[in-house]
Amino acid sequence: MNHVSEAQWVAYLADEIPEALKIEYENHLYSCDKCLSVYMEAMEKEETSLDIEGFDIAGPVMDSISRLKGGSVEESWQHRKEKSLRTITRHYLIAAGFTILLMAGGVFQSLTEYVDSVESSSDKKTQSLTEDLIDKTFTWMDTIEKKNKEGFRNE
Ligand SMILES: [Zn+2]
Repeated sequence: MNHVSEAQWVAYLADEIPEALKIEYENHLYSCDKCLSVYMEAMEKEETSLDIEGFDIAGPVMDSISRLKGGSVEESWQHRKEKSLRTITRHYLIAAGFTILLMAGGVFQSLTEYVDSVESSSDKKTQSLTEDLIDKTFTWMDTIEKKNKEGFRNE
């Protein structure tokens, strides 16, 4: 896959690209330090704009106005809030995933060194353990994201 530009990350963060493409970006992120730093920069900018657009006083005020008027404004505010929360949830899950991967990387690196000193044919075993942990992390992230979506739908 090609590198992801900052403009593409901005579109990703704004929830303006298809789900399949997001997954592609995310998978690339885990294997590319260059795109990770570009993503982090885009995320910092996005967080600043979310503070202004998503969580200022306008939300509750808009809610009150729409209750007086009959509902249409509230619906768009709810939609925007949901999008912002989903984006933020996704960021935290990605950050959590990285933490786990980095920790796992450190743990398995020392494990590999230890095992190597005991027997030299254990590289394959360590590799599959790492992959297993990465799989579990992704499954866990998917589960949480699904729960969040269901939660929003029930609101
Ligand atoms: Zn890249």
